[in-house]
Amino acid sequence: MMKLDELGEFGFINTLAPAFEHLAAEGMTGIGDDCAILPMNDHEDLLVTTDLLIEDVHFLREAISPLQLGHKALAVSLSDIAGMGGSPIASFMSIAIPLELDVAYLDEVMDGYRTLSEEYQLPLLGGDTTKSMKAIAINVCVLGKCHKDKVRLRSMALPGDVICVTGCLGDSAGGLQLLLDEIPLNNEHKGLLEKHHQPEPRVKEALFLSSFEGVHAMMDISDGIASDLSHILNASGVSAKVCLEDIPLSDELKSISQKNKWDALGLALGGGEDYELLFTVQKDKLTAVQQEFEERFETPLYPIGGIEEGATEIRWMKESREVRMSNKGFTHFESPDVL
Ligand SMILES: [Mg+2]
Repeated sequence: MMKLDELGEFGFINTLAPAFEHLAAEGMTGIGDDCAILPMNDHEDLLVTTDLLIEDVHFLREAISPLQLGHKALAVSLSDIAGMGGSPIASFMSIAIPLELDVAYLDEVMDGYRTLSEEYQLPLLGGDTTKSMKAIAINVCVLGKCHKDKVRLRSMALPGDVICVTGCLGDSAGGLQLLLDEIPLNNEHKGLLEKHHQPEPRVKEALFLSSFEGVHAMMDISDGIASDLSHILNASGVSAKVCLEDIPLSDELKSISQKNKWDALGLALGGGEDYELLFTVQKDKLTAVQQEFEERFETPLYPIGGIEEGATEIRWMKESREVRMSNKGFTHFESPDVL
């Protein structure tokens, strides 16, 4: 009997897609992108995504504040809507609650959830509540919409495209590492912890990018760029070259990594939970998209490499020479799980 940790999370998911494919009506796309796509009307598609957060697997109750937990539960699904270039229209939340939990704690979780909902004028339209023996579990489903010709899929990358990300990578993984290593926390650690506990989904940025001609494949960075970029390559049937010097690392991550002898680049490539956007753009449109993005959002875009023809694998470059990478990004069932 094969155990789940041998099969891997993606191995399990890959068995599901073919088993249900024949049940999907025309125009429906399911497993394999950030969201499922269902035709809504002549012009727009409906996007659906769902995410599950489990205590002690995805978060530690003593490390994350209830406000942050409510925020994060919604933010990770909003990030998937962003990954497709969509705008959110409603959310549903199901929560399993240990009976000994204070009502005040729950109120704060919902405050965090509501504050982020207000930001996007996003109604909570339903869900379920149930008791749990010990752990808190929160499942959030977000519906979104997207103009049919603006939907950005993982399969849209083309040879010649430049690969870009919308922000520094690895901060969230650095925040997690602080908790795992039980490092006494101080003010200097605030940024990394906040990025881990309270990620800001790039919904507005994604709407801008998806309206920009020349932006091709897009997704959000949830598992680490090594793993996430592989999804784009597999879906598009292309190869990629990534320059390690161009991976954006925050000063904070660099200095804290140096102090604690962490591999900052490893955290950036394999850590995950950055919830930045990863996208590819036609080379002759790069400068224009960079300029307009920076004017609008007061933060730069970071080109990190290029899409090429060839086998669906990432070639890592350092000082113009190819190097080997052992860190392939984490998958939930294979590695000691993130908290
Ligand atoms: Mg995603």
